[in-house]
Amino acid sequence: MAAYGRTAEPAMFEKVLIANRGEIALRIQRACRELGIKTVAVHSEADADAKYVMLADESVCIGPAPSRDSYLNIPAIISAAEVTDAQAIHPGYGFLSENADFCERVENSGFVFIGPRPDNIRMMGDKVEAKAAMKRVGIPCVPGSEGALPEDPKEIRRIAASIGYPVIIKAAGGGGGRGMRVVHTEAALLNAVTLTRSEAQSAFGNPTVYLEKFLENPRHIEIQVLADEHKNAIFLWERDCSMQRRHQKIIEEAPAPALKSRLRDRIGERCAEACRKLNYRGAGTFEFLYENEEFYFIEMNTRVQVEHPVTEMITGIDIVQEQIRVAAGHRLRYRQKDVVLRGHAIECRINAENPTTFVPSPGRITQFHVPGGPGIRVDSHAYQSYYVPPHYDSLIGKVIAHGDTRDQALARMRTALSEMIVDGIQTNIPLHQELLNDTAFIQGGISIHFLEHRMNAQKKIAIESGE
Ligand code: ADP
Repeated sequence: MAAYGRTAEPAMFEKVLIANRGEIALRIQRACRELGIKTVAVHSEADADAKYVMLADESVCIGPAPSRDSYLNIPAIISAAEVTDAQAIHPGYGFLSENADFCERVENSGFVFIGPRPDNIRMMGDKVEAKAAMKRVGIPCVPGSEGALPEDPKEIRRIAASIGYPVIIKAAGGGGGRGMRVVHTEAALLNAVTLTRSEAQSAFGNPTVYLEKFLENPRHIEIQVLADEHKNAIFLWERDCSMQRRHQKIIEEAPAPALKSRLRDRIGERCAEACRKLNYRGAGTFEFLYENEEFYFIEMNTRVQVEHPVTEMITGIDIVQEQIRVAAGHRLRYRQKDVVLRGHAIECRINAENPTTFVPSPGRITQFHVPGGPGIRVDSHAYQSYYVPPHYDSLIGKVIAHGDTRDQALARMRTALSEMIVDGIQTNIPLHQELLNDTAFIQGGISIHFLEHRMNAQKKIAIESGE
């Protein structure tokens, strides 16, 4: 492979195995193609006919439909890499992407894990440890308990009172918006701690919980970083992901509306510096709650995120390609001064689900038409006659709109969604269309509770009018 700049770079991989499915499997495949890398798609029996599986240079069935037997089946994935002679494994997001044991087993089997080192993944996977590490490297955190909550009820009450109600109990091993409980009064505290502990034990195999101040009106703002093995780290600005339902993001945008550039620069620089101090390698995201011009760290994701395209659109940097290059030992191709913020981008996650009840709607897509035009990008593995299997996440694609201004990006997104046709299953497109016309969202800067409050208000109106 050619050298970039002055120093010769190590050889690029010849073949990469993609240990994921759906739109992100296709996204990674595209990045590999552009880099001249051959791809191996691993898939479950339910995904055997997927187009991206056929488009891959090679494919290996790793088990039956349930994720635990296929996409979470570590021995099957590693033997697929062995039989196909892949050199590296890209884990995508979800599934095994933040599993430090997987990462270790991949590397111990002689393959490169396209992501951070296992110690970084392990540290960030335990939110108590992650917070402690962040404090050490100068990242501001949500006020809360010093580490894990003790057993002593009196002590728990004392800690909560010193933080001040409302508080949120969070599982150290939690993720995906699960393992959290808000408590408004002392009377409800101990019971809620017990419940969250036992849920955390059964869901994550770790009963450790901690307390945080529950922020009542924050925005969710996250910083994308890229780092290499040579102590170079940069930040690719921020994304605002405040449009959430049950802690799951629905619409994301970059940059965050009305964020002062002084604050943006300061937090970004701190995140890049944290990467250097932690010897972090690869792509990562520092997630913050943002309230009254203050950032409060909540967690770090050590993988590519669903919403990475909005950042790609405003910076022109291909995050997945950089992940692959850095994993091959290359230096980042960009310095901070090269990361220019251009315009505004918005992403709508298209889910196969009922737009009002959110009940998943798997099945056969009978008609599929994706939008186009200036500034529109669609990342989707779906197509006409594609069968959306019931076994996995309901995300069937993402529509991303880029414009010179936020208003232009919004206008392009509205047009794009009005052109998009997905028949045979239900999708949340009607919900997106409503939200894109909501005055508060158009104005920008909504809080993470916006959607829940909006839905509650609508329910109330429906009940009052007897609907
Ligand atoms: P997960 O790993 O499950 O995604 P996070 O810690 O990232 O958990 O939190 C997910 C979401 O939960 C946040 O985006 C926010 O909506 C809510 N949340 C988490 N911590 C707090 C807090 N201290 N105050 C208010 N909301 C919170």
